[in-house]
Amino acid sequence: MAWGAIRKPAAERRKAAMPDPDAARKGFSWQSAAVLLDGLPDGGLNIAHEALDRHVAAGHGGEIAIRWLGKDGARRDLSYAEMAAMAARFANVLAAQGLRRGDRVFALMGRTPELYAVALGTMKAGMVFTPLFSAFGPGPIRTRMEIGEASVLVTTAAIYSHKIADWRAEIPSLRLVLIVGDAAPEGCMALGPALAAAPDHFATVATKADDMALIHFTSGTTGRPKGVVHVHQAVLGHALTGRMALELAPGTVYWCTADPGWVTGTSYGIIAPLVNRCTMIVDEAEFDLERWYATLVREKVAVWYTAPTAIRMMMRAGADAAKGYDFSALQFLASVGEPLNPEAVVWGQKVFGKPFHDNWWQTETGGIMIANTRAMDIFPGSMGQPLPGIEAGIVTRKGAALVELGPGEIGELALRPGWPSMMRAYLHEEARYAKCFVDGWYLSGDLAMRDARGYFWFVGRADDLIKTSGHLIGPFEVESALIEHPAVAEAAVIGLPDETAGEVVRAYVTLNAGFTASEALEQEIRGHTRKRLGPAVAPREVVFRESLPKTRSGKIMRRLLKARELGLPEGDISTLETDER
Ligand code: ATP
Ligand code: MG
Repeated sequence: MAWGAIRKPAAERRKAAMPDPDAARKGFSWQSAAVLLDGLPDGGLNIAHEALDRHVAAGHGGEIAIRWLGKDGARRDLSYAEMAAMAARFANVLAAQGLRRGDRVFALMGRTPELYAVALGTMKAGMVFTPLFSAFGPGPIRTRMEIGEASVLVTTAAIYSHKIADWRAEIPSLRLVLIVGDAAPEGCMALGPALAAAPDHFATVATKADDMALIHFTSGTTGRPKGVVHVHQAVLGHALTGRMALELAPGTVYWCTADPGWVTGTSYGIIAPLVNRCTMIVDEAEFDLERWYATLVREKVAVWYTAPTAIRMMMRAGADAAKGYDFSALQFLASVGEPLNPEAVVWGQKVFGKPFHDNWWQTETGGIMIANTRAMDIFPGSMGQPLPGIEAGIVTRKGAALVELGPGEIGELALRPGWPSMMRAYLHEEARYAKCFVDGWYLSGDLAMRDARGYFWFVGRADDLIKTSGHLIGPFEVESALIEHPAVAEAAVIGLPDETAGEVVRAYVTLNAGFTASEALEQEIRGHTRKRLGPAVAPREVVFRESLPKTRSGKIMRRLLKARELGLPEGDISTLETDER
């Protein structure tokens, strides 16, 4: 099946924050975009001030910042004024404990309102915020706290006693452990009473644009996670891309389904929506089909930012499961994290009445770089075009230099450094950081292609590319063809060494409800991919699996499938979802 373009009618273009992307790109400068921010009253730039305090000062304190949905059905609204007060209280708690500017505050907890106050209060106090997935085991927590030199840990009593207490004393930098709730084990401090006793005003520390604000660990899809440093200046990127790529505006009801432990859940699950004065939905619970559909409808979510893994889970349940829900409030759907299969883009159109808009970025880029925006026609399978202020190219190495490739050619996706949310370091890995910058470009490690219209197409991670009988194959193309087959829910494709072909293509798939693994089905699926892709590219073998190994942020770990297949060491699996371990 060929995937036709999804054209945007003129009426839809007019509604877009950026009705004419080409014109916006031409007339753009980061300097002029700075009007989106206020800056601190006495100079300096601080993310928390842009996200909360300035809205309160401008008389918007009564607007809802967070609509929190508890696991157990609770529903609580927190206004901008309440969030600002809670963040100020948290900053006061830190200061009262003698913590100083630049100290590192780690959060290891579920998506409760406190998490958001901790994030913003930390930055308000001029300290550095690092969120971790609360489901991490003790090993991954400890390594990250060591790499990040944690001064403070905010967590729950249960997590503390099960995962931290045993080795806490062995982290020399760790000075304070705060426990969410009213009571704390010995040697820790209860956060509830501390917040209640703290003043609800705190003069924001006058951080500079280039001061460190956040450390995020990468997803660990290709290897050991890196600690990526971001500065307060990043907020300019979040403000602008939230508006241009995600249609965030004051009052927009917005739901980002990512946990802050993944960079998406911080850049676009905390900062971008608050800076743009949205009302953001925070759901404490994990993916649940009915809960999600009901949330979209009940909360009248207008903008929804999610990931391919979730979309494929919805697809797996079938379009019928979405019948009877009224999704008419939805204005804009976006996806990030992995390549979005064309089938998934179109599925959005069928089920929600709007296509999913794929966009591309990395922990390192801090914010969205390439996107399908609201006014743009969509070519399903493409990640879209660079946003204003972003210059992207497809490059290849020629000796020590890089050359840019033309339309249709596959090479490494590269960006011209200089956008505000660019990473400033890999913690303790200077050489690795330096290697990312070559000849005036930042190298992403992803392979892609740009077409004649200027749209970018993801091919695969540089490490995942398969070389077979003189062909170069990107796993994404093969995986997308596989999931077009009605039986296939998800697919992962790897190359296995082969004496004659160099490598052969092997596919792992999970099946949709109502299909059973069989030799006949395997042949049929292979037949389908041969027809779609030709015999050289189609998988030689299709293996059925109950599930595929994924990171906590929902990315398929192809390297793990390969290592297991070849009996090689599994490498760093700290981000692997536990049910796969
Ligand atoms: P690690 O760097 O530790 O291996 P990771 O690269 O998965 O992990 P992230 O920074 O969370 O960590 O993910 C960024 C990567 O995700 C991109 O480099 C790209 O490979 C992939 N990605 C993100 N968005 C898209 C997209 N829209 N299409 C294709 N791939 C995407
Ligand atoms: Mg990466």
